[in-house]
Amino acid sequence: MRPSSSCWADGAEAIKGGSRVKALVLHGPLDLRWEERPLPEPQMGEALVRITAVGICGSDLHYYRHGRIGRFVVEKPLILGHECAGEVVEVAGPAAGNIKPGRRVALEPGIPCWSCPECRTGQYNLCRSVRFFATPPIDGVFCEYVAHPVNLLYPLPDQVGEEEGALLEPLSVAVQACRKAAVPPGGSALVSGAGPIGLVTMLVLIASGASRVFVTEPYSFRRRLAAKLGGYPLDPFSTEGDILDVINDLTKGRGVDAAIECAGNAAALAACLRATKPGGRVVVVGLGESIPQVPMQEVIDKELGVFGVFRYANTYEQALELVCSGRVDVKPLVTHRFPFADAIAAMQQAATGGEERMKTLILMPKY
Ligand SMILES: [Zn+2]
Ligand SMILES: [Zn+2]
Repeated sequence: MRPSSSCWADGAEAIKGGSRVKALVLHGPLDLRWEERPLPEPQMGEALVRITAVGICGSDLHYYRHGRIGRFVVEKPLILGHECAGEVVEVAGPAAGNIKPGRRVALEPGIPCWSCPECRTGQYNLCRSVRFFATPPIDGVFCEYVAHPVNLLYPLPDQVGEEEGALLEPLSVAVQACRKAAVPPGGSALVSGAGPIGLVTMLVLIASGASRVFVTEPYSFRRRLAAKLGGYPLDPFSTEGDILDVINDLTKGRGVDAAIECAGNAAALAACLRATKPGGRVVVVGLGESIPQVPMQEVIDKELGVFGVFRYANTYEQALELVCSGRVDVKPLVTHRFPFADAIAAMQQAATGGEERMKTLILMPKY
């Protein structure tokens, strides 16, 4: 049923006047404001979705702190948030398969053009016209409702909750990275950085049959979590020895089959290049310096393949299968939860970081 009005279920101020929805809007660095926006009108082929859960991503925090990420600048007010799940309220146009009112779904956040050469060859993440949630000037999902194409909605089976639905987004990045890394069954890998992306990447590598996944991470809380979830954590700043010696010892002196850089710094990328075996692959996910100083001799001497990852394409169904089948459990990554009414506090706290924090989720009021 289409909502005649929306309101806070948890006692905060009700929205008056019918079809207005609450949104959390970024006006500039550290300047988040509550605003009302018109209830979105789904166009033909779109569904109106009530958002139920949103993950706070590193990119949201970067826009919040700095008002920009590289070439993407917040020039006018922007709604953040792109890792989300929701419930279908209304479908515009003919019923679209199993997307119908009441259906719980994960939302793939990028809407490509579907007609450029990249889209037509399946690499729609590289579409130059893609409209991606919370990437200026496209609004994200720190709001109660969005209209979104039905073919970018993925129905969640009963055993998959909204929190896991929201986390299919970072899990998709991991699926994309692991496809590029192509670690063989029983192979070894290095993941640098045990933040949310590093950890989901580690989980997908393990689920895909890697026998040993080294994870470099300076924070001990994150290393402990990596170990608990099946990784082999290493402290890059340990005084007890070089991590490369450990990796070499445990890979019979060969190095890992592939390394996936998720830390976003040049030292981590250099370690990835050094730790990878001749003919191996290095996949760069982390967003660091645009022209990092790295030991290119490693790339040449070992004929390494170096691959970038920009978001993902055709990954949501696999990410969902990994969760449904129980092969990947993303729930241990969620360390903090806030109701939507406290989303500003959630952003402030997440932005200050702290070692014992992994993924923060915003949960929308239940109606
Ligand atoms: Zn994200
Ligand atoms: Zn395109």
